[in-house]
Amino acid sequence: MAILRFHALKQTLERVPIYIEEKERRSSIFGSNVFNESTMRQYLTKSAFTEVMDAVLKGTKIDRLVADHISTGMKEWAISKGATHYTHWFQPLTGATAEKHDAFFDTIGEGAAIEKFGGGELVQQEPDASSFPNGGIRNMFEARGYTAWDPTSPAFIYGTTLCIPTVFVSYTGEALDYKTPLLRALQAVDSAAVAVCKYFDKNVKKVNASLGWEQEYFLIDKALVASRPDIVATGRTLLGHSSAKGQQLDDHYFGTIPNRAMSFMRDLEHECMLLGIPAKTRHNEVAPNQFELAPIFEEANLAVDHNSLLMDLMHKIAERHHFKVLFHEKPFAGVNGSGKHNNWSLSTDTGVNLLAPGKTPMSNLQFLTFFINTIKAVNDNEELLRAAIASASNDHRLGANEAPPAIISVFIGDQLTKVLSELKNVTSGKLSPEEKTELKLNVVGKIPEIMLDNTDRNRTSPFAFTGNKFEFRAVGSKANCANPMTVLNSIVARQLIDFKSEVDVLIEKKEMKKDDAVFNVLREYIKKSKNILFEGNGYGDAWEKEAKKRGLSNNKSTPEALKVRVSKKVIDLFDGLGVMNRVESEARYEIEMDEYVHRIELEGRVLSDIAKSRIVPTAVRYQNVLIENVKGLKDIYGASFKKMAKEQLLLIEDISKHIEAINSNVTKMTEERRSANQEEDVEKKALAYFYKVIPMFSEIRCHCDKLELLVDDELWPLTKYRELLFTN
Ligand code: ADP
Ligand code: MG
Repeated sequence: MAILRFHALKQTLERVPIYIEEKERRSSIFGSNVFNESTMRQYLTKSAFTEVMDAVLKGTKIDRLVADHISTGMKEWAISKGATHYTHWFQPLTGATAEKHDAFFDTIGEGAAIEKFGGGELVQQEPDASSFPNGGIRNMFEARGYTAWDPTSPAFIYGTTLCIPTVFVSYTGEALDYKTPLLRALQAVDSAAVAVCKYFDKNVKKVNASLGWEQEYFLIDKALVASRPDIVATGRTLLGHSSAKGQQLDDHYFGTIPNRAMSFMRDLEHECMLLGIPAKTRHNEVAPNQFELAPIFEEANLAVDHNSLLMDLMHKIAERHHFKVLFHEKPFAGVNGSGKHNNWSLSTDTGVNLLAPGKTPMSNLQFLTFFINTIKAVNDNEELLRAAIASASNDHRLGANEAPPAIISVFIGDQLTKVLSELKNVTSGKLSPEEKTELKLNVVGKIPEIMLDNTDRNRTSPFAFTGNKFEFRAVGSKANCANPMTVLNSIVARQLIDFKSEVDVLIEKKEMKKDDAVFNVLREYIKKSKNILFEGNGYGDAWEKEAKKRGLSNNKSTPEALKVRVSKKVIDLFDGLGVMNRVESEARYEIEMDEYVHRIELEGRVLSDIAKSRIVPTAVRYQNVLIENVKGLKDIYGASFKKMAKEQLLLIEDISKHIEAINSNVTKMTEERRSANQEEDVEKKALAYFYKVIPMFSEIRCHCDKLELLVDDELWPLTKYRELLFTN
């Protein structure tokens, strides 16, 4: 096995970057493999086009007969681009994307064939989906699920396949995927936000949530990855001593992108352009071999699809460049992990970003309304937001020694903190004309100016306001953004609905003017949300203590974090908004808890296997070399050999101690795993894994890593950290 490590290193060192030529301007190929608006105009009848656009913009249903026209146009376009197959493309709860390809090809008898793709095939498909996770939903109702076309995300061609973005639901309508609840949440926030916008502008008819994600990842040579069974099976290193050179020098961050990585990025960006993914930024991240790609933000549903598609693409394109992409949040201990910042905002069909300060006092009051309501939503639902980003792999960032922490807080910067503290003192009840003028001129009116020099940026906050959007930074790099986006948009929708009814009560019952009512409600919200606002450093004990005093949750493990999803408050929240009913909420909880258990169980098994079948035998082999050496010294020097063999003898003993510790800890972990598996209750089982099994990982690892330092490098079977991180 030691041979595989050196073979992999040799292969890696011999690689040359693949030259990627960009023949055409990016702007001219952008979206050319997408059935977008301009292509639809070309391939659809006028009425079919109008119907699709109405579905996209107003959420209307598409008539079944019109679907036949659309499918015909889509097929013609796809075939003209060389497509032979079509698939419904969806995002089941496994975390990957799924597709089942069917050919356009059909026989028509007498040995003849045609290309066929009807409206029925566009609108609905029935994948054999019995082995996607469903948390018991399907067993309770029907044994099958089906996929249904989502016209708000355009169809695209990848390779020779026409991919049609779809939702995935059970026959009784329960969501079995990430997209369905997201679409419902986006609808909820749309209608709630439109109602609030009407206070400020009667022309607003639609509000879109926008999302701009920033995808971090590691790029490691394929051969090196293949030489590490832990990365292959679990996506991360379960052992390995940290290398002498780590990221201390900070020489990778924004440094020159290594050549092979650059070729990969150019290739990837070319595909992104064809698929209409507006990739914009690329750079090195903090850790060696860690990078980031960020697109221009888009409507949230499309942005979520584009992120899932990008992750697929990255795996495929990496293959061409002999790389593996690691999306795991913490592939290497002691080196920065990866996240996926979710930049989020709301904007109107009249072109206003509701989280950007405006030019007039009135538009700034609107900004403050959405700004403060978002803060209040996070304040009231911080634990749910934490649950939305919980996973076994993200636990290594949240709650470990890495920013952001497991405690959700909101950072808004000095300037806006001052604005809020002034608004907190607004008179209760009707405002005097003087006070209103003062507010409008000197508080609300000053916002655009102060935002210009809002340079204070906090990099560790899990949820930060960054000038014209909030940035949810605690999302994991591996996660599907749909989950955090469903939660965020739902809690803001709920909050806006409550805000509207409180303001209306003041207007109707207390005969207040609209502005007075808005100021009054916002004042109370600022007071009620003070606990969530935190401008300090999120690392360490001081904030943990302070957060505890404030009553903020600090759930360090996924099983503890997820529990809130089946609380009455959360079930009612989603149910009330029509985002998820009780069955769907409970099913998701079960799926995520199961997923957690399976991940940890797998890691435990892989770690035991590597420790016992690779590390221990290697240590024994090296110990034998030492024993031979000691025997030889004795042969030559007789009684005085002891002085010369002193270090060797100590090493021999040391190695034995580590071997003993590894074996006993592996046995102990296996017992803990067995007893955890005896638990029927999913919560108890997951907690047993967290509290009993996971602690054994570091016990075992610690001894393996010590051996790595003792054993002859030539014999060591696993590719080392310095080789994984610094060979490129
Ligand atoms: P950084 O956070 O790295 O300093 P920026 O603040 O420039 O970078 O933007 C980061 C991301 O925020 C980009 O991907 C961008 O598309 C996204 N973004 C900018 N404005 C919005 C918005 N209104 N809604 C959602 N995302 C946005
Ligand atoms: Mg950012």
